[in-house]
Amino acid sequence: MTKVALITGITGQDGTYISKLLLDKGYVVHGIKRESSTTRIEDNNKEKKNVNLHFHFCDMTDYSKIIRIIQDVCPDEIYNLAAQSSVHTSFDRPEYTAEINSLGTLHLLEAIRTLGLEKKTKLFQACTGEIFGNSLETPQNENTPFRPQNPYAVSKLYAYWICVNYREAYDMFVCNGIMFNHESPIRPDSFVTRKITKAAVRIKKGFQEKLYLGNLNAKRDWGFAGDYAEAMWLMLQQDKPDDYVIATGETHSVKDMVEFAFREVGIEIEWEGEGLDKKGINAGTGEVLIEVDPQFYRPIESSLFVGNPSKAREKLGWVPRVNFEELVKMMVKNDLELVKC
Ligand code: NDP
Ligand code: GDP
Repeated sequence: MTKVALITGITGQDGTYISKLLLDKGYVVHGIKRESSTTRIEDNNKEKKNVNLHFHFCDMTDYSKIIRIIQDVCPDEIYNLAAQSSVHTSFDRPEYTAEINSLGTLHLLEAIRTLGLEKKTKLFQACTGEIFGNSLETPQNENTPFRPQNPYAVSKLYAYWICVNYREAYDMFVCNGIMFNHESPIRPDSFVTRKITKAAVRIKKGFQEKLYLGNLNAKRDWGFAGDYAEAMWLMLQQDKPDDYVIATGETHSVKDMVEFAFREVGIEIEWEGEGLDKKGINAGTGEVLIEVDPQFYRPIESSLFVGNPSKAREKLGWVPRVNFEELVKMMVKNDLELVKC
């Protein structure tokens, strides 16, 4: 029997990767997309028209539309990826963030229950390593206490618990993927990795003079989005629903990311100064290429993030295939091609 999947947030980075993975596996894929969305998934997937790919206009705040879509589509699997996914924006728009990330998730759970699909429809919830916040434990695993440090993380923690609650109360197949940062060539440049790879290429080609960044010492566990899409799918293929940390287990600083990306375009970066006065200098020419701008700092920064993906490795057989260096190379290569066009 052909499986049917519904993906919320299909126009985003992860929506693009999971829809491609599911279409390749022969699924019929339905995607929820906002009318205002400017992203064309067909372009990202390089598939002009796929007969197994269908779109439904809907906003995650619109419960009555969500319930009608689920009734029509009757999905075997739902991947809930729609979110206000920026930590930085969540400080400015905490209520909006909660409406989409927390209540949007509740809308899906309620729709499944109300339609009597508890035994048919499995739900993957895109949770985040940000729920560990300023954790006292490193690396973080499924048993690490949650200490969220920003409105985004708090909104995702509500979604995490409501998923656990519906799984336990109504015996529904619901999984939280507690995913650490994952990037790709289609990551928007509002996130630091893509901001850096794009800037490295633009500076090399003479289209940009400098790159302004926030906290250069911040560390993240950065993986490749394609690998994380596979983990999402694997969770829904198990006999029992559960929650899994999805991470690489390695951590790098923003400063490391800058060095790797600029090296890829043939520029060695040397650092001078400290704190707000820290500068990244082109070792070959002496030009200052990177400066710190306080506007990119957060009111409060989550501490060292590094996930322990042992449970996913043991139970799902999941291992990340792309390491940090390969990820940076892939992103820079893509940005070099875009500049050529
Ligand atoms: P993106 O920001 O790239 O995509 C978010 C998607 O949500 C977009 O398709 C966007 O649509 C959609 N969306 C936003 N608001 C609404 C709304 N009100 N109604 C309907 N759709 C909406 O995120 P990613 O693909 O990177 O992440 C996918 C999920 O995984 C998110 O939930 C994110 O929080 C979570 N996550 C991501 C991590 C990462 O490092 N990438 C790490 C941990 C968790 P539109 O095109 O209209 O803007
Ligand atoms: P996040 O982990 O989901 O918030 O992903 P981001 O890519 O937005 O940020 C990753 C880390 O990079 C955070 O610790 C930021 O504080 C840090 N950072 C440093 N400079 C910048 C910047 O200019 N933009 C962004 N987005 N993050 C920055």
